[in-house]
Amino acid sequence: MNKILVVGSIGLDTVETPFGQVQDVLGGSATYFSVAASFFAPVNLVAVVGSDFPEKEVEYLKNRKIDIRGLVINPGKTFRWKGKYNYDLNTAQTLDTQLNVFAQFKPVLPTEYQDVPFVLLANIDPELQLEVLKQVKHPRFIACDTMNYWIEKKVDALKQVIAKVDLLFINEAEIRQLTKELNLVRASQKIFSWGAKYVIVKQGEYGALMFSQGSVFSTPGFPLEEVNDPTGAGDSFAGGFMGYLAKKGDFSEKCFRQAAVVGSVMASFNVEDFSLNRFKRLQYDEIETRFKEFKRLSHFEGTL
Ligand code: AMP
Repeated sequence: MNKILVVGSIGLDTVETPFGQVQDVLGGSATYFSVAASFFAPVNLVAVVGSDFPEKEVEYLKNRKIDIRGLVINPGKTFRWKGKYNYDLNTAQTLDTQLNVFAQFKPVLPTEYQDVPFVLLANIDPELQLEVLKQVKHPRFIACDTMNYWIEKKVDALKQVIAKVDLLFINEAEIRQLTKELNLVRASQKIFSWGAKYVIVKQGEYGALMFSQGSVFSTPGFPLEEVNDPTGAGDSFAGGFMGYLAKKGDFSEKCFRQAAVVGSVMASFNVEDFSLNRFKRLQYDEIETRFKEFKRLSHFEGTL
């Protein structure tokens, strides 16, 4: 089966939402992505943690059959992110970002990773995303994600990444900030002019829009009874999307649409609980059931 290479952050998050708070819990863009994708396809992970990273979380990644030969443990502290959500759960307010061991990190791909066909550059310093791209040999499909932190600090490197990828995952506020274009159709056209062929605009609880030249697809967010923590929803979406695409190895419009719904399915599970707690107890048959519920959610018949 097609493998997926992922580089991104692994961190310890401190998060406050109207429904509770957690301190120094497992988080990071690569973590959410890898775990979500691992339900569909094998994942090869590249990231760094510090010597304070809990061994039990490394064991968890291994138990999900995630290949961690590219996970480096360096002396120092693990990446930390502190965020808060108010009743508008769609927007995270970053209170603190400590890059720690990421500040000195230069990713080196193990030889076995260099031929992996599907590549996801999860949210991380775009200069590190470029370092990884230099080392992959025959990629079939490359996607990247980013966030306001990097748009503000490293926009030139980020544009170089966008020039080299097939697909950009980005949230609504961030594509507007990056392109300086309010209208999402025009904003995604600007991204196409920079190089990417697909743009997925994440809209929090409202779902996501997938743009390609001449086509747009909308997947809803699932109307959930219980939402506790939106952290990692975007990465879980990307994990579901890429995992499904790698599993199918099919680049048709039909498969992309299915992958976008799988992305929404995985994001919808993730937000039900803090950290990766929902994924830790998620079963594959629950994914199948929710995929079917998504189909019913916007299906209608009849003509006008
Ligand atoms: P999401 O909610 O999908 O945007 O992703 C949340 C995850 O991104 C959290 O678990 C954080 O650890 C991680 N994160 C936050 N800020 C950064 C950053 N500047 N670079 C890389 N990862 C980050």
